[in-house]
This record gives sequence, C-alpha cells and structure tokens, in this order.
Amino acid sequence: MAALKEKYDIVIVGAGVAGLNCALNLPRDKSVLIICKKNPRQSDSYLAQGGICMLRGDYDYDEYFDDTMRAGHYENNPAAVECMIKGSREVIADLEECGVDFRKNSDGTYAFTREGGHSSPRILFHEDCTGKEITSKLMKKVSKLSNVQIEPYNVMLDIITDGEKCEGVVVYDIKEKATKAVYADYTVLATGGVGGAFGNTTNFGVVSGDAVAIALRHGVQVDNVNYIQIHPTVLYSKKRGRKFLISESVRGEGAVLLDKNFKRFTDELQPRDVVKNAVLAQMEKDGTEFVWLDMRPVPKEELASHFPQIVKRCAEEGYDVFTQPVPVVPAIHYFMGGIHIDLNGATTLPRLYAAGETACNGVHGKNRLASNSLLESLLFAKRAAQDIAKNYSPLDKSGYVKPAKEVGGYKHILNGLKKDLRRAVETAEAGGDPNLLFKGDKK
Ligand SMILES: Cc1cc2nc3c(=O)[nH]c(=O)nc-3n(C[C@H](O)[C@H](O)[C@H](O)COP(=O)(O)OP(=O)(O)OC[C@H]3O[C@@H](n4cnc5c(N)ncnc54)[C@H](O)[C@@H]3O)c2cc1C
Repeated sequence: MAALKEKYDIVIVGAGVAGLNCALNLPRDKSVLIICKKNPRQSDSYLAQGGICMLRGDYDYDEYFDDTMRAGHYENNPAAVECMIKGSREVIADLEECGVDFRKNSDGTYAFTREGGHSSPRILFHEDCTGKEITSKLMKKVSKLSNVQIEPYNVMLDIITDGEKCEGVVVYDIKEKATKAVYADYTVLATGGVGGAFGNTTNFGVVSGDAVAIALRHGVQVDNVNYIQIHPTVLYSKKRGRKFLISESVRGEGAVLLDKNFKRFTDELQPRDVVKNAVLAQMEKDGTEFVWLDMRPVPKEELASHFPQIVKRCAEEGYDVFTQPVPVVPAIHYFMGGIHIDLNGATTLPRLYAAGETACNGVHGKNRLASNSLLESLLFAKRAAQDIAKNYSPLDKSGYVKPAKEVGGYKHILNGLKKDLRRAVETAEAGGDPNLLFKGDKK
C-alpha cells in the first residue's frame, strides 16, 4: 500500500462494481485513486446472489421495459430504462472479457434464470454468488492497472468544495489514524446503498449512505431518499448482524412461501414490494415472527448446483432445505433513491459524479426490478467514466479550498452522517423536501 498523494486526476470513493468499472473505463494516462472503507471484499457487490439481467434479443425489449416500469410503479425515468436495457449486452460482453463465468447450457448458449416481476427468464448467473464472481474479476483487472491506486481502510468524511465545484475529498486513513485532503480534477462517489445506517439489513455495515448525507449537507441534489426496498425473504435468525438473503431466484426456480399452517398465501413471483407486503400481512394475521420458504419444489439437482451457498448457510443455521422449509422475514435491502445524476453520471455539482446504488437517475422508479442493479451500476459507471474522459479539463489549482477540520474523531463524523441520512428519510416520509434540510447550513 502506497501513501496517499495530495492530488490525483480522478478520485473514486467505493470499490464495488460501480467504482471498479468506472476505473476500468477511465483513460490510462489519468492517475486514479480508489478508496474504500474497509476490506474491499466488504461491498454489497460481493453479496449479490441472483444474477444480472441481459436483453436476450430485440424480441424481449418491450417486455423487459414494461417489467422494469411496472415494478417501479411507473415512476421510472423511461430514458434511463431504455439506456440500461439497450446497454446490457455490452455490459455482459465487457464482463465476459474480464473472465466472468456465467452458467451456460450444454450447447454453449447462456442459461437464464427468473426472479419476481420478470415475465420471462432473462437473468444470467454464476451459482448463487454472481456478485462475487463479477466483483473479484473486475478487481483482478483493476489491480493490474498501473494508473490506478487502490487504498482500502480510507474513509471519505466529506467532499472538498467551494460551493461551485468539487475539488476532491477529505479522507480518514484508518491505519495511519490521520485525516487528509485529497484533491482531484474529478470525484466519483460510488459508496453503495444505505442499509448499514439502519440495521435489520442484508447490506454490509460499511454501506451506510455517507455520500448521500454529504451531498445533502452541501446542497447537491438528492432524489427519492425514502425509496428504500425491503426484501421479502431473508433467513430468520435471532443472531445480531447482517441478515442472510435468500435470493428471489430460488422462488424463480419454484420455491414457495407458506403460512403457519404450511399453506401458500401469495404469488411468489410478483414484484418485490408486493411480495414483501403479503409476507408482512401474513405474519400479522398468523401472529408469527416469520413465514416459511419451501425450496423442496425446486429439483434437488438444481437446488444443489445453482444455490450451494444458500443450501450451506441454511444447514449452518440448522435447516436442511432438501427436507424442510426455512423461516424467512423481510429486511432492508436496496436504495432506489440517491444523489441525482444525469444519464452520464454527472451530479448537480460540477466535477462531482456519482454511480451505482448511491446515485439516482430514476432507472428503478419506486421499486427495483430484481437483478437490474448490478447491470445499472456497471453501465452508468462506465458512462460516467466516458463522460469524464470526453470533457476532461484540469482543475484550476488556485481555486483549492481548505477542507473542513475533523472534530471529535472519524467515527463521530460517520455517526453524524448516518443521523443526517435518517433525518432526511424521515423528512421525505413526512412529505417534506430533504434537499432543504441543510439550506443555510452549508459547510
Ligand atoms: C445480499 C445482496 C444480494 C444482492 N443480489 C443482487 C443480485 O442478485 N442482482 C443485482 O443486480 N443486485 C443485487 N444486489 C444489489 C447489488 O449488489 C448492489 O446494488 C450493487 O452491487 C451496488 O454496487 P455499488 O458499487 O454501487 O456499491 P457497493 O458494492 O455496496 O460498494 C460500496 C463501496 O463504497 C465504500 N464506501 C462506503 N462509504 C464509504 C466512505 N465513506 N468512504 C470510503 N468508502 C466508502 C464501501 O467500502 C464499498 O467499497 C444485492 C445486494 C445485496 C446486499
């Protein structure tokens, strides 16, 4: 690990699929710094189970578009949806070039699985650990780039801005226990979702909406901050810590939801929010803390080969999925809102970009269609990189401003960000505008 320099051409905050794919698509003659909070494997990208959507052919365009819009309650930005679907084949081709291994049929064609809200199978997968397969291959490729420096255990505490443009980030180096200003011509925020700010979540604790809170504090536009998706099926457990997701694609392959009398109570392949509501209503009606997910309708061979991690984890918790149902409950999972971006990843603050789950161009509307997230993160991160390359101009160094001083330790600052984020969500839930929360209070 090298020391942080004072200035890079581009700083990327976050080492999930969005941050990594952005770096891969930036010009090789630009110096790039990627920072992440802890071990790079602690990103939600590593956790993705079900898979990644791809447009199978022109014949599927209308249905894929409609499925995405219907799941999003038609609040989606149609231009973003079109861009994502049309760009999907290129994203998959890029991943293949990185060595990502998607399951294939015996004739060499792709095998597709299905999840809730999809009218037909169009999801590519690698067992039940598609995210790990994609992210580790991207990381391998990025690690070989001589223009990219990856620095884990470095936490963004703030952006540096004079209110007119972004000039870099304030970073806390956990190992050196030091706060530093890192200047950059362009800054890309790719810090993932918000689950870690709330608990009862499938997300890593490090993914806690820091960039969104920072954006709000600086008057950078944030959209739909209360659009938080709750996944209907995580493994019920009294243990503390991150909740273990049981992918929707298990239901796509035939698993069913059962009430306390082991009777089906809903169509398991409706969009996620509809199934979540049905699960919560059933728990209320039955007076139970969970419902059952029965994977026995999935052929044994498919269950074992497609979902080995789920089978293993359930066994560790004492459930043999081949012979008995497992208890499941809903948990916070995904953030549809985020820092407002255009289709090229630009935020409302010049020289500041955002990509992945932390950003919002409206592609998911009010509720994300399953397996559109990896695709969206990869595609719009690439577009952000291309836009930076196309419009590149160095920052006028005379414009540098001093970063805010650290007060009370970095954990205190991060807790402050979480508090601000939760306040913004509450304000939006109550019908207020979170973008006005810090007006007059800008740093
Ligand atoms: C259990 C689970 C299963 C999923 N399954 C699927 C699926 O099958 N298909 C699908 O399409 N999507 C799935 N998703 C969603 C998808 O994985 C994510 O939306 C996507 O990976 C987000 O990528 P990202 O790069 O934006 O963020 P992440 O991968 O979450 O990366 C965030 C990065 O930001 C860093 N970071 C955060 N804050 C700071 C800070 N202050 N300073 C420095 N670094 C910071 C973190 O350390 C991390 O490196 C799943 C999500 C989960 C949790």
